[in-house]
Amino acid sequence: MVPVLGPRQLGVGVAGGCEGAIHAARCYLESMPEDHIMVKLDFSNAFNCLHRHDMLLSVQRNLPDIYAYCYAAYAHPTQLFHGQYSIMSEEGPQQGDPIGPLLFSMTIEPLLTSLTSCLTLGYLDDLTIGDRQHTVAADVQRVKEIGENMGLTLNVGKCELFCHPNTSITDPLLLSFTRRNLKDASLLGAPLFIGPELDDAWSTRLADLRRAVERLSLLGAQDALVLLRASFSAPRVQHLMRCSPSVDHPALSEFDRILRSAICKITNCDLSENQWLQAGLPIRDGGLGIRRVSSLALPAFLASAAGSLSLQDAILAQADTKPDSYFALYLPRWEAAVGGPPPDRPLSGKQSFWDRPGVLSDKATVESNLSTEHGKASFLAASAPHSGDWLLSLPITACGLRLEDDAVRTAVALRLGVSLCVPHICHCGAQVDAFGVHSLICKHAAGRISRHQAINDVIARAFVTADIPVSKEPTGLSIKDNKRPDGLTLLPWREGKPLAWDVTVICPLAQSYVTKYPTPGAAAELAASRKSDKYANLPNSYLFEPIALENLGAINESATSLISELGRKISVKSNDSRESIFLFQRLSVTLQRFNSILLRESFVVEDPNK
Ligand SMILES: [Zn+2]
Repeated sequence: MVPVLGPRQLGVGVAGGCEGAIHAARCYLESMPEDHIMVKLDFSNAFNCLHRHDMLLSVQRNLPDIYAYCYAAYAHPTQLFHGQYSIMSEEGPQQGDPIGPLLFSMTIEPLLTSLTSCLTLGYLDDLTIGDRQHTVAADVQRVKEIGENMGLTLNVGKCELFCHPNTSITDPLLLSFTRRNLKDASLLGAPLFIGPELDDAWSTRLADLRRAVERLSLLGAQDALVLLRASFSAPRVQHLMRCSPSVDHPALSEFDRILRSAICKITNCDLSENQWLQAGLPIRDGGLGIRRVSSLALPAFLASAAGSLSLQDAILAQADTKPDSYFALYLPRWEAAVGGPPPDRPLSGKQSFWDRPGVLSDKATVESNLSTEHGKASFLAASAPHSGDWLLSLPITACGLRLEDDAVRTAVALRLGVSLCVPHICHCGAQVDAFGVHSLICKHAAGRISRHQAINDVIARAFVTADIPVSKEPTGLSIKDNKRPDGLTLLPWREGKPLAWDVTVICPLAQSYVTKYPTPGAAAELAASRKSDKYANLPNSYLFEPIALENLGAINESATSLISELGRKISVKSNDSRESIFLFQRLSVTLQRFNSILLRESFVVEDPNK
């Protein structure tokens, strides 16, 4: 349908249509001559008023393949039930019909193509027209007449007109539109210029965030953190950052300030400047994935403007416009910050390509600001693959993915290198520092055994779910010293050989590791090779796999492959391709839960009655 509808109708089947329309409208207004005007037209209840007869004729003409289907759906009125009432649905596409927008756009297409103005933009029922006054006036008259024949009525009170301050409007219909300054223009929810409209849009978003943060404190920490990351933070203002010139807006830093205090409140952690910078990194880079909007605004706008360039050119083919001045202003700033050329097409449309250099530079800043061995080791462990899986898991109790509030606090503190507790003496007599390191490695902690069993259970259950029976702690593998691995598959795993595995959890923050292993996941690899040595005498009729996990989440490479393969086998059975992801999340959540349990165990609780 795109060749039929685009580039005048951008609401259906045109990738990036909305953003292309916004940037094109800004370009048009920026270079608009004194004698030109732009109008935004609004129809009253457009979708519910379009005549079905016209809709069906349009389908018959343009998409005969689906005509029979549409005829069955729309040729006769249908009943809508609401409790004891019923109403007849007689006009327009049915609410919720997935092809509703297509039916609407296709039906009004002759109306759009009949317009002669140099700027003719349609986004579903939002029409924007720009040209000389008399051309626009004639087009508006045409829209009014053709529209009325199709059942669409112009809502004159909501139509807007943009022109230069000295332009005098003479057409009576245009005079009835609300006249507005160019700088106050907005389209499809995005203010086009810096000014009061943009200020209003941002203050609404700030108020929304403040309200959301207040309400998040009523939820569990894990739920709150997921909602903050995936919904209320940067994703909430993505449209505003991509489409409006928000880069230098003062609201960005206020938005970030609220985000930072929200993280502190939800996780009960006090973040330093550097820890906040780390928290704003993507999860795979060691952060919490709650991005700072002040770092996202520039790449977001550039990606959107650059990615929609060819669409903008198509929209503005008849108009004489200069390039977007904001793009021209922002691009050199990005180049100066990155020290390199911008991404070429087709990568120029991908925000990640504009964003990545900034992320890497923030990451380098975080790293260079880390002064202690502990801080460096925490950051390394946090940026290892899979260490942030628990952040991505949905808190579903039935799937074993729920973390208590204090486990979330411990997990975030370990990840960001925040102090965990007041230094104290462990029940075993050793000193526990503010980062709780000893509690995580204390040989006398019962939680270490429970953790081992819990992790082994997750692995053993995964095999069973994949239809591979297992035996836990099998005997009789004829290994010297009667060593018993944690589990054995009772059916061959690969090449006709059953697989024996052994689980171990190590703490990369322990004194023996912090200085020696400067790469992410190195401690897990070391522990894995120790395990392999231990089982070197296993007869070669068995396969052996060490499963070494760091308590911050990293997993040795060969076990990562094993778990991925196990996940794939489960996927075949369940038809859900995400099983590997769920399995990694379950392991990650289990590790984080036990970090908190181990910390708790280190305290000697005094009886207040004594
Ligand atoms: Zn201890």
